[in-house]
This record gives sequence, C-alpha cells and structure tokens, in this order.
Amino acid sequence: MRALALVKPGHVEVVERPVPTFTPTEVLVRVLGVGVCGSDLSVYDGHRQVPELPWIMGHEAVGEVVAVGSQVTGRQVGQRVVVEPNYCCFTCAACLAGETSGCLNRVIVGMTSPGLLADYIGLPAAFAHPAPRELDLEELICLEPYTVGVAASRRAQIQAGQSALVVGTGSTGLLLIMHLVEHGLDVYFVEPSAERAQLAEELGAKPFDPSSAPPIDQVFETSGTVPGTQSALATARPGGNVTLLGLAAEPAAIVPSAIVRNRLTIRGSMIYDHPIDFDYCMGNPPRSLKKIVRGEFPLEQAQKAFASARTVPGKSWISLVPMGENS
Ligand SMILES: [Zn+2]
Ligand SMILES: [Zn+2]
Repeated sequence: MRALALVKPGHVEVVERPVPTFTPTEVLVRVLGVGVCGSDLSVYDGHRQVPELPWIMGHEAVGEVVAVGSQVTGRQVGQRVVVEPNYCCFTCAACLAGETSGCLNRVIVGMTSPGLLADYIGLPAAFAHPAPRELDLEELICLEPYTVGVAASRRAQIQAGQSALVVGTGSTGLLLIMHLVEHGLDVYFVEPSAERAQLAEELGAKPFDPSSAPPIDQVFETSGTVPGTQSALATARPGGNVTLLGLAAEPAAIVPSAIVRNRLTIRGSMIYDHPIDFDYCMGNPPRSLKKIVRGEFPLEQAQKAFASARTVPGKSWISLVPMGENS
C-alpha cells in the first residue's frame, strides 16, 4: 500500500508499506482523507521530534472499516469512521478519572506512533467513531480538530449569551469560533492575516476592537504565540475565564498581580477526553464546516499540501481516493 513519509525536514515522499495487521480488538480501515494541522507542520519542519525517519505523517483521518477483529462489537465493515488519534490506556489514574487527555501512556498518533497517511490503518475499535451521515468527507476531516475546540468550550463551561474572544484563527481557532457562534455566544477574534480574518467574519465573529467590544467573559488562546498568550490574559474581564489551547513554548512575561486583581481563571486545555468529547461531536456536528475547507490535495501532491498549509486559510487536507469518490 501507499503511505506518506517524512524523509527529512521539509520533504515528504510517497513510500510503499505492507498493509497493517490488526488485533482482535482492532479494526482495519481504508483511509479516504487526512487533514493537515499545525502539529503536523511542526513535525514536517523538524521542530517537533519524532522517533525515526522516514516517519509516516498525519493524524486527522477519516476512512471506511474494511475488516473487524474477532472481539469487536459495534463496528461493521462498510462503516465510515472518524479517527480519534490519541489512544489512552484506560488504566492510569487520569484515565480512571475520565481525564484521558492526561493519560500517562497515551499513544499520540503521528507523533509517538506512526501516522495515518496511508491507504490502510489498524487501530483500536473504540477510537474509530462511526461518522455522522449528514457530513461528507471533507467536512468529516474537520471533526477531530473541531473536537479540540468543543473540549475547551466544555471545560470553560461556555453559556449562550456570553461574550468570547478567540485569539488566532488557524483551523483550531476557526473551528472553535464556529462552535461558539452556533452555541449563541457573542464572538470576537484577533487575527493578523486578512484572509483568515475574512473566514472568521463569514462564520459570524467580529474583529475585536477594545474600544467598542463588551467585557469579555471567555477568552480562548489558539495562536500558540507569546504575544497571543499575553493579550489573552490582558483581555478577559475581571472574574473572566482564559483558556489556553495554543502551545507557545517560550517563556511569557506575566504580571501576577493583574491576574489576582482581575480574579482570572486560567485553564490549559489539552485535546479532548475519551469518549465524551468525540461522542458529543459525532452526535452534534456543526453546520458550517463547508465554509472553512479550502485546499484539497491528492496524495501525490502532499508535498505541496504541507508546504502551503500555513498560508492557505482554512483547512487543507490530503485525499487518498480518486476524485469523484469523495462524497
Ligand atoms: Zn491536528
Ligand atoms: Zn491512561
């Protein structure tokens, strides 16, 4: 079968690999399409270390079940599935507490375990979620990153009628905006790129102007930058919530007394918890995904997909099936 491997930083190639085997509790999935996101780009750039090169890329996969292990229930051949690409252990203290995002033994697909950009993948059945029928392939590809925003919103306990600010409108920020708008919040954003800002406005968010915006109840930082993090902390109203999703890795100067005086609640939100967040998204998919899907690339043009993903606004994705089979 074909797979897409990073052979050196900044260079991916289609390689041949054997079709994977699968255990009695796993399913074998024919992959239809895979989204490209910021964490893939940090692997592609060589900024995030992976165990070896060549390395199979990708984690936001949608496919079709082609075989099920002998002990699997609730999954059938022919079912379309969205992959939850973080396999928790179910036995550590975090897992037992229902906070699988903190699992000490978590398999992080595409980072600690080979990625999903291949014709076939084997995975634990519990992490292959039957897809909502009303969405087509390119929309389904957005559901994994959408779930990241849904989990952050759940943890922040958003409520209809609240004001919210989303800092950064890469695909995570845009998908979060979509969720907040559809749930009746008054949503603002900060984004330097004009094209991305336009997409955020099409989703119903407004550019943030501190002179006219209301006090902000819920701030979400998705840019993963130090200035973005600092402006998130400075913008929440007294008593408000600041939820950090972006992975800024450098130290940021903060003024502790400002946090104390403003009685801020600051929360780090890492991915999602199994199975509640995916279950919610599969049952309540958003309505506006078509607006943010932009670049579709066949596997042969994956190099182009990775090289351009930072500048193409919205979601880029790689198709593993011939055009026309993509509905
Ligand atoms: Zn991702
Ligand atoms: Zn665990």
